[in-house]
Amino acid sequence: MITGRFAPSPTGRMHLGNVFCALLSWLSAKSKGGQWRLRIEDIDPQRSRRDFAMQLMDDLQWLGLPWDGEVVWQSQRSDIYEHYLRLLQDAGLTYPCFCTRADIMATQAPHETDGRIVYAGTCRGKILDETMKNTPAAIRLMVPGEVISFCDGHYGEQQVNLAHQCGDYILRRKDGAWAYQLAVVVDDALMGVTEVVRGRDLLLSTPQQLHLRQTIESLSSPHRGQLPVDSGAIGESLARRRAKVRGGLYFFHHPLLVNESGQRLCKRDRSLDLSSLRQKHTSPKDIIGYLAFLAGILPSPTPSFPQDLLPLFAWQRVPKEDIIATFPNLPNSR
Ligand code: GLU
Repeated sequence: MITGRFAPSPTGRMHLGNVFCALLSWLSAKSKGGQWRLRIEDIDPQRSRRDFAMQLMDDLQWLGLPWDGEVVWQSQRSDIYEHYLRLLQDAGLTYPCFCTRADIMATQAPHETDGRIVYAGTCRGKILDETMKNTPAAIRLMVPGEVISFCDGHYGEQQVNLAHQCGDYILRRKDGAWAYQLAVVVDDALMGVTEVVRGRDLLLSTPQQLHLRQTIESLSSPHRGQLPVDSGAIGESLARRRAKVRGGLYFFHHPLLVNESGQRLCKRDRSLDLSSLRQKHTSPKDIIGYLAFLAGILPSPTPSFPQDLLPLFAWQRVPKEDIIATFPNLPNSR
């Protein structure tokens, strides 16, 4: 059984790019008879807002993209993340990092193509003195200098050297907030997610997540006496879940929606955010039809319900290059 998921961070209102991701993920899971789960990734207390999350759920319902089961809120799962972090710490796979952003910028030039910074490992192996023990520190995972290969469902074979291309990454921030990679890996495993659909900007997260998942699973094995502390509906242990997903955790990355100057749509593009489109009385069928056209599923932007698209959906139709989304093409009033 395929369980796909949509995992937005509620740090702004949904824009067309988020809807594009939700639609592709919904179609990909539902066209295989699967379930589609919704998880609200509200782990950044400074940026996440509950009203945005509520608005997002209302938007998904309005668009005709219903999810299965209960909504999972990352902000309520601290104890679970804590358990898995401790497992990694006890195995000696993490270290505290005292670097400031300025320290990190000073040791490493941003990656040429996307401005990403690969942490140089400055705090790895640092001998801690007494004063440091009370200094706030981020916690980083030590990654091996290994090439991880995986086959993306849309972009094909990928090979990433974790140490060179990603570096040791943060599991918990200095201010105590949970970092994206740990929360995502633990939740995908415990929720029984078997298919992940997201923007190609997150392609490099995949080898990090595959490696972290494999590491946690090997430490969670019942033979080591380390059983997870989760409970309730998503309370199966990682080790038991592993058996179920052994057939594969599939990743599909999709091209990004960009504006006419090639910049990725973002929360600042107010004209393409769902609230303004709804205010202008654009209908959900128009939005879905337009996005399906951009995704290569429809030959023209014909107003449609998501379920109308199920028989037409195929990943082969979705372009690989980023796609220009222009507001004037979207019928904007009824
Ligand atoms: N929460 C992430 C975001 O809003 C997406 C997480 C994922 O799909 O892995 O960008």
